[in-house]
Amino acid sequence: MRCPYCGGQETQVKDSRPSEDASAIRRRRVCPDCGGRFTTFERVQLRELTVLKRSGKRVPFDRDKLQRSVDVALRKRSVEPERIERLVSGITRQLESGGESEVTSEAIGEAVMEALKGLDDVAYVRFASVYKNFREAKDFKDLLGTLGEMHGAGPGQLSLDGTAPPRRRGRPAKVRA
Ligand SMILES: [Zn+2]
Repeated sequence: MRCPYCGGQETQVKDSRPSEDASAIRRRRVCPDCGGRFTTFERVQLRELTVLKRSGKRVPFDRDKLQRSVDVALRKRSVEPERIERLVSGITRQLESGGESEVTSEAIGEAVMEALKGLDDVAYVRFASVYKNFREAKDFKDLLGTLGEMHGAGPGQLSLDGTAPPRRRGRPAKVRA
């Protein structure tokens, strides 16, 4: 593996161990020429995937990019890194085993939303708002409405900034006749 700092060819592996969810091997490497340190990952790849973007452009599927957008959605949420890694691996595996060598960016977005929905409501809403390019408060309301139905309208599950639970309004008080 060539050194990313100086281009030296003789980098050495210092340490090799499984990643948190054991879906990859993480290798710490050091370059004897410049002393540069970096890490490489070895992962299973079932097939080469191409992403067809909304613009019509085709780019190679990039797991790191997927990981980054999931990380952003889950920022400051208390979800263990291991679960996040497993989620990203799961989505990747799902896309790779779909039988097509080309996936649309929509399909990836839907898969991420589906996965986040089961993991963390706030991350789900954050991701959905970026992915679906929300412009109006109404879009949020519609989405939150769907979530409420999903969870049997349990109160206090969801807040967009991760602090206070939202206030529930318009719920008629139960009155006994
Ligand atoms: Zn080097």
